[in-house]
Amino acid sequence: MISDSLFISKVPRGWGGQWRGVRIFSICSHSGGEERLETSSAKKLTDIGTRRIFSLEHDIFRESVRKFFQEEVIPYHAEWEKAGEVSRELWEKAGKQGLLGINIADRHGGIGGDLFSSAIVWEEQAYSNCTGPGFSLHSDIVIPYIANYGSEEQIKRFIPEMVAGKCIGAIAMTEPGAGSDLQGIRTNAKKDGSDWILNGSKVFVSNGWLCDVVIVVAITNREARSPARGISLFLVENGMKGFIKGRKLDKIGLKAQDTAEFFFEDVRLPAGALLGEENRGFYYLMQELPQERLLISELAVSASEFMFEETRDYIKQRKAFGKRVADLQTVQHKLAELKTSICVARTFVDSCLQLHRAKRLDRATAAMAKYWASDLQNRVAYDCLQLHGGWGYMWEYPIAKAYVDARVQTIFGGTNEIMKELIAREIIHDQ
Ligand SMILES: Cc1cc2nc3c(=O)[nH]c(=O)nc-3n(C[C@H](O)[C@H](O)[C@H](O)COP(=O)(O)OP(=O)(O)OC[C@H]3O[C@@H](n4cnc5c(N)ncnc54)[C@H](O)[C@@H]3O)c2cc1C
Repeated sequence: MISDSLFISKVPRGWGGQWRGVRIFSICSHSGGEERLETSSAKKLTDIGTRRIFSLEHDIFRESVRKFFQEEVIPYHAEWEKAGEVSRELWEKAGKQGLLGINIADRHGGIGGDLFSSAIVWEEQAYSNCTGPGFSLHSDIVIPYIANYGSEEQIKRFIPEMVAGKCIGAIAMTEPGAGSDLQGIRTNAKKDGSDWILNGSKVFVSNGWLCDVVIVVAITNREARSPARGISLFLVENGMKGFIKGRKLDKIGLKAQDTAEFFFEDVRLPAGALLGEENRGFYYLMQELPQERLLISELAVSASEFMFEETRDYIKQRKAFGKRVADLQTVQHKLAELKTSICVARTFVDSCLQLHRAKRLDRATAAMAKYWASDLQNRVAYDCLQLHGGWGYMWEYPIAKAYVDARVQTIFGGTNEIMKELIAREIIHDQ
């Protein structure tokens, strides 16, 4: 079976000798395809060279991404956890390495790679157990809004800089009084000549402290037939008068992630700050949220794979009652259950990735993936920490960090209760 999908159409500087000078190449899935092992049969769930959806070219790319996280992220992460943010230098290094904006067309200033290559970056970050860098949000949530709905000018102005890691992106939907019910937001923008005047506040903004540009969701028409028809998106830039970053929020996990709160006090925005059409913001959000949910499900399965492997290593060397913990049958059964659940979830999420690449991933299916995989991640975190005993509760053990970082996955990107609402709506909807 030969696939003709394009992998990389523009190769960034810094991808190592073998990539330099290559402009376009395509993936031949016969380089792996049906012969590739699925994770259930692989030696390790994190092995390179597995899964039918990937090719040899993806494997080579994955190796370079793994190396990046091992060399540029893992050694510094504890320091960033204390600081509550990663370094700006890291963003620029990621840009140089071609890890940002991979699945954005090169005509828009992106790398022009395929969705699966983006997914490799998501997965490798999860395998590194380092949740600080907000690369996936920046590349696969924020940039797509600009690429899909931005004007020529906005695309030219922001995307190349964002792909280079010189301009960090965020998105601010949630407010202190409105999260699940986005139609209940109060932040508003009023016309003043051709400008807009923005007022309100936002909370829980990932990449918020470091961001240079943020997509702000605001009400622009209070008289609309429904609140959803009166919402617009704006590109608000750091340093604009009246745009105040409150503080980095003190979270129980994601310690190196710079989640922040924002205040807007009569921020004057030029007409060119409106992203897409006026009052179409809610529609854009509905279009883009499936990709956000797919991303969360991918991170969730990958984090589960990481935790499983950490735990397998631990119980093989830990001794109790004169033998290895791994030799106890109840422990072996627990691992069998965990591995089965993770591999089943992996198969579904891989299928969602394929559907999304073909632009066929519907909202309810993306919601299923997000809810199922993030619930699983939390069950895996609980069981794997338990299998580490008291040492699992110590911060120096990677499982402790993985445990607290898992918790938010059922909350952001739409809570899992809201995911069930979306799935249920489809179930009872008259055909
Ligand atoms: C670390 C972190 C990072 C985040 N990053 C971002 C970001 O970058 N940008 C951004 O805009 N937001 C971000 N969020 C916000 C996140 O998306 C919201 O927290 C989430 O959507 C839930 O909203 P809420 O916190 O207001 O909870 P609420 O809406 O107040 O919900 C409270 C509880 O009620 C339940 N509930 C609400 N409505 C229903 C219903 N209809 N049926 C059943 N149960 C219901 C919820 O499931 C939840 O359990 C982030 C949050 C966190 C914690």
